[in-house]
Amino acid sequence: MSDCIFCKIAKHEIPCDAVYEDDDFLAFRDINPVAPTHVLLIPKQHVSSLLDEGAKAEMLGRMTALVPKLAEQLGIAADGFRLVVNTGKEGGQTVHHLHFHILGGRSLQWPPG
Ligand code: AMP
Repeated sequence: MSDCIFCKIAKHEIPCDAVYEDDDFLAFRDINPVAPTHVLLIPKQHVSSLLDEGAKAEMLGRMTALVPKLAEQLGIAADGFRLVVNTGKEGGQTVHHLHFHILGGRSLQWPPG
């Protein structure tokens, strides 16, 4: 997708603060963090969301398996972290390229109580 910002980041056409990269995935710090550690994990291939038929189980499995490794690397595994996948309009998705938010470093105000 030529106008997709995360595709441009994946192709190194736009800079990012990368924390992990392999042939298929890239993880980088969110430009507007909502927690002390806020990293986005994306597939390099354009997949618009979890609802995209390109969001195959095999790819999602490999992507999810990276999360605990990244959490260890980022130093947030011991105390725990939150994994968020905003999906679609009501889900609050603003960038239409599948991404996992990995959030750690403080207790967020959700869920309440
Ligand atoms: P969402 O609202 O779930 O679609 O999340 C999109 C996220 O992408 C937001 O948290 C933004 O702060 C983040 N974001 C947008 N542009 C960039 C960028 N160029 N570099 C890093 N993070 C970005």
